[in-house]
Amino acid sequence: MQKLKNYVCGSWIEGEGIQGTLLNPATGEELAHVSTAGIDFEAALSFAREHGGPALRAMTFAERGALLKSMASVIHEHREELIAIGVKNAGNTRGDAKFDIDGSFGTLARYASIGKKLGDTRFWLDGEAQDMGQSSRMQGRHVFVPRKGVAVLINAYNFPAWGMMEKAACAILAGVPVLAKPATLTCMMAERIVEIIIEAGIMPKGTFSLISGSAGDLLDHLGFQDCVAFTGSAQTGSMMRSHPRVLAKGVRIGVEADSLNCAILGADVDVDSETYDLFVRDVVTDITQKAGQKCTAIRRVLVPKEKLANLKERLASELSRIKMGVPDTEGVRMGPLSGPKQLLEAREKLDQLLTCTERVIGDPDDFVALGDPEKVGAFMPSIVLEAKDADAADKVHKIEVFGPVTTLIPFDGSAKEAARIAGLGEGGLVATFYSDDRAFAAELIEEIGPFQGRLVWGSKRSAGAAPSPGTVFPDFIHGGPGRAGDGEELGGMRGVAFYCQRLAIQGYGPLIDRVFKV
Ligand code: NAP
Repeated sequence: MQKLKNYVCGSWIEGEGIQGTLLNPATGEELAHVSTAGIDFEAALSFAREHGGPALRAMTFAERGALLKSMASVIHEHREELIAIGVKNAGNTRGDAKFDIDGSFGTLARYASIGKKLGDTRFWLDGEAQDMGQSSRMQGRHVFVPRKGVAVLINAYNFPAWGMMEKAACAILAGVPVLAKPATLTCMMAERIVEIIIEAGIMPKGTFSLISGSAGDLLDHLGFQDCVAFTGSAQTGSMMRSHPRVLAKGVRIGVEADSLNCAILGADVDVDSETYDLFVRDVVTDITQKAGQKCTAIRRVLVPKEKLANLKERLASELSRIKMGVPDTEGVRMGPLSGPKQLLEAREKLDQLLTCTERVIGDPDDFVALGDPEKVGAFMPSIVLEAKDADAADKVHKIEVFGPVTTLIPFDGSAKEAARIAGLGEGGLVATFYSDDRAFAAELIEEIGPFQGRLVWGSKRSAGAAPSPGTVFPDFIHGGPGRAGDGEELGGMRGVAFYCQRLAIQGYGPLIDRVFKV
């Protein structure tokens, strides 16, 4: 059986023994072994700092952008092969695998064009110079400089391609080498992508390293110039934040954790309208796409009381059309969860939600999985719950079932109440509201804004053009306050800033300007 390798210190290294086995979650077939035992993580970080950092810092933004463009091109060339890996190792349907892979090279390509636009400079100025006293001889300005450490990119299992490259694009454009640590469960994809870019001979020495499996004692060797960009559960995120080495060295850490995202239907929206159709489409997409394993998926649906019955009918009808099963089986549009352990965890959390909600659509014990008559795969059907009372159903605002599950919450239709209920989730990555009433929208934006990283307004004006709210775009920030980790990724140069030091430089203005080629 294949054994995945680690790429550290400029070489492909096999870990000692077998620490884990990757599976096809739809069939239970064993695919590959992984191990990171025996890897010297301290040496891996030092190699990246000593070779990769100087190589990237010597390049201009335009050159780093060109590197990102080459990475995007070679990944694109292997698109079909990578889709097959997503289907096999993550249980993705072809559409779900494309979402991940296209997101990876699309983000790299976008950052490539940002680099090109910044041009032949290695400096990124932040704002204008300002006089410091009465004369203009003493001035100050801010500038971003790349940190002299390693970008340690720790990712969750649901987006092994996109998750790794959305972080890598920002770090490399900043001029910081990358050490990627994808989640073990689905790391076949990340390993193959790194192999592709290394084989293409485009990465300067030490600029990209990979760990295919457990992180071992990696965190114990972090230094104050390193940055950890973490995506995963809130629990692991808080362990990372409070890691003794992170605290002792003041290691910069960004956390993208889970979130109980809301979709809110405005009371003005008629059930026969385009805006309502958009709302239903988004809820259905977020339940079923990647079998609900998206950090941005809609977990709570706030619906004005008088529209609840209609919504239940519409969702039951739409969801019944989406067939679940082994991904390459004819007609299948939803795959399994990413593994048996993930199914078990989702079932346990669903049981906890059922202590304060009622199941209105779907049955975890009675479903059809096409192509899997024996039910060996990690399948969970689409499930819709109903919370009769937003406050009594406290677990709905605390527990994330990382699967095809959402909860309907009837409310009085007011913006204040919608924002209050959304706020019970204590911080979200994204909230979506659907309304053609500008007064409702304005009040809601003000009330709910501080609790979210991103807010999507669905209306009849955007209905034909709106992507699903779960889609993350490189030009807009991804992250959210509180429970969502309080991180901020992407957002154009905002995401690059994480890997840089913002420096205030003060002195004789013309001299400073000459150094920075203003
Ligand atoms: P997880 O269990 O928290 O693991 C996340 C990553 O942390 C994995 O790579 C894991 O490695 C690693 N890790 C765990 N312990 C570590 C340690 N001691 N040192 C270094 N690394 C360590 O999360 P998951 O199960 O993979 O992903 C699902 C969760 O991620 C969900 O809650 C979801 O909401 C969240 N998520 C959030 C976002 C976002 O952008 N906000 C995006 C996607 C997913 P191993 O796999 O080797 O254990």
